[in-house]
Amino acid sequence: MSLLVLKFGGTSVGTPERIRNVAERALRLRGEGHSLVVVVSAMSGETDRLLGLAHELQPRAEGRELDVLLSTGEQVTIALLSMALEAYGCPARSYTGGQVRILTDSAHNKARIRSIDDSRIRGDLEAGRVVVVAGFQGISEEGAITTLGRGGSDTTAVALASALKADECRIYTDVDGVYTTDPRVVKRARRLERITFEEMLEMASLGSKVLQIRAVEFAGKYNVPLRVLSSFEEGPGTLITTEEGRVEQALVAGIAFNQNEAQLTIQGVPDQPGVAYRILGPVADANIEVDMIVQNVGADNTTDFTFTVHRNDYEKALGILERVSSELGARNVAGDTKIAKVSVVGVGMRSHAGIASRMFEALARESINIRMISTSEIKISVVVDEKYLELGVRTLHDAFELEQEPTGQSTDR
Ligand code: ADP
Ligand code: ASP
Ligand code: MG
Repeated sequence: MSLLVLKFGGTSVGTPERIRNVAERALRLRGEGHSLVVVVSAMSGETDRLLGLAHELQPRAEGRELDVLLSTGEQVTIALLSMALEAYGCPARSYTGGQVRILTDSAHNKARIRSIDDSRIRGDLEAGRVVVVAGFQGISEEGAITTLGRGGSDTTAVALASALKADECRIYTDVDGVYTTDPRVVKRARRLERITFEEMLEMASLGSKVLQIRAVEFAGKYNVPLRVLSSFEEGPGTLITTEEGRVEQALVAGIAFNQNEAQLTIQGVPDQPGVAYRILGPVADANIEVDMIVQNVGADNTTDFTFTVHRNDYEKALGILERVSSELGARNVAGDTKIAKVSVVGVGMRSHAGIASRMFEALARESINIRMISTSEIKISVVVDEKYLELGVRTLHDAFELEQEPTGQSTDR
């Protein structure tokens, strides 16, 4: 008998009717002989609603009490799903993260799972129950409720699948798999049969929110068989897998994008050793993460230094830069929040030259100006004006012929 961990996202449990559909799907799988642990998110919109309430009372609400509040969304859905299952005569039992004992660190609002006590769950499974677990939450050593960051139910599911050595972790959502890019932006995007953990991790990190980054990280590290599929229709979905198991050999697996970043430039700084450190040191000290960095070739013994940060950190970073600017005697500080980052991702890049030039040529044809570029072994990212985001993504999707099945290009490996 196989053990499956199923996870249903917010849209999939957004109404009582949809919760009933989830129960019916669980019953079908149970009927086929699978043991089931079902992880659920809060009903769609609920986490945002709770955040809104918190912000009405405390505009900078965060930390312990925010977690107490946000974790309630998932507590509602575990109870409702268990009731729906019982209404069909299926024994079920719900658990919050703390009740399972999903132990996390104490980093409220972005806690990491440390360990999972699977004894209760195993006992229930042996007694023939469907176990329903609240996603996105755990408990710290001190006994405080913690949450795992937005989209964290994916990580709960993967961590449970790993702890229970489940045969598969299935992420049921409102699209029927992982696509070459967000199908809401590019209608011709194609569902992938498979994608490697590495590519999926890049896609998630670069903005594709179909899976939480940590869930992919975790699944890759512990080799948890992971599949993304539709909660509304039947189908094979997308298998996230190791490179060896890959059959498709596209150069580019997909295109990710995000609009979460802002750009800052300090112009006319002295072109001397130590300047980058004097600019970015105070930014790092303020706990602001820097993503892309560009320093121009100097002229007249001065240079321009540009970098990007998360939009939430923009004002804070700008303040720091203005201070640093006067200390360094820079000419000017400028910033822009209306930018977008578009990235092409694929393990095939390792063994193929020419991806970057194809990318830049396609953008040039549409007169899309590239402001910044950064590359790694399996991705190339560019920053463009926000208004070109959709056009840029569509253009690149066409340029790399992602709507077509790959034709088995060799990978020289
Ligand atoms: P859930 O509530 O089930 O966790 P999410 O909204 O977190 O669902 O993730 C699913 C969404 O991810 C889809 O509706 C889709 O718009 C978006 N998405 C972004 N990039 C991709 C991609 N490459 N493939 C599939 N979906 C994507
Ligand atoms: N409910 C949480 C969120 O909206 C967690 C999740 O859905 O995975 O981010
Ligand atoms: Mg999600």
